[in-house]
Amino acid sequence: MRMLGVLGGMSWTSTESYYRLLNRGVADRLGGLHSARLLLHSVDFAPVARAQHDGDWDATLAVLAEAARGLERGGAEALLLATNTMHKLAEELEKGCGLPLLHIADATADAILADGLDRVGLLATAFTMEQDFYTGRLAGKGLDVLVPDEGQRAEVHRIIYDELCLDVVRDESREVYREVITSLVDRGARAVILGCTEISLLVSQEDSSVPLYDSTRIHADAGVSFMLG
Ligand code: GLU
Repeated sequence: MRMLGVLGGMSWTSTESYYRLLNRGVADRLGGLHSARLLLHSVDFAPVARAQHDGDWDATLAVLAEAARGLERGGAEALLLATNTMHKLAEELEKGCGLPLLHIADATADAILADGLDRVGLLATAFTMEQDFYTGRLAGKGLDVLVPDEGQRAEVHRIIYDELCLDVVRDESREVYREVITSLVDRGARAVILGCTEISLLVSQEDSSVPLYDSTRIHADAGVSFMLG
């Protein structure tokens, strides 16, 4: 099994999901007591999140680049960056550590295209919904991406940072997400990407009339394929 380097902690609540999915995936494919061969560097999210909101992406890059180099020195053969938002820095990170990066947007887009869909809604942090690094990458793959309106984006973002990253899951917030999904579907979305790795803690397929594509699960599957490839 090839060793996967996981850069997590953004937030720990979603890294916990990744750890489970990576091990579950290896166990399902190999059976018995098999489990994922991985190296995890989980950062302290508070300074990273502060720098994100200050727009100081160089500071976030410094933290992640050092962690990625450590994973490489520890024997990792590929890098899985366990967050959508920090894929803003995917290219710099990949170059800095010399490991191939398993890109979350590529894996997610490929899963949607394989199902013959092309017009999708996106739920994610404001950074991911509003900047080009993610929506542009999806568009480059041939997807037509719809994002919620401004007020809805702010609420989706707030629930991620003020609740899900803190391990708080509230029914009222699930209702907000259900309404946002419905308005994306009304605008023509034929599927919705859960493009933030904590959202699946709150929302599941029963909250949507169209298929949901959970970036965490899809990305973890890509990690499993790498380890077993
Ligand atoms: N985990 C989230 C994501 O997938 C947001 C937290 C972060 O900035 O990493 O975008």
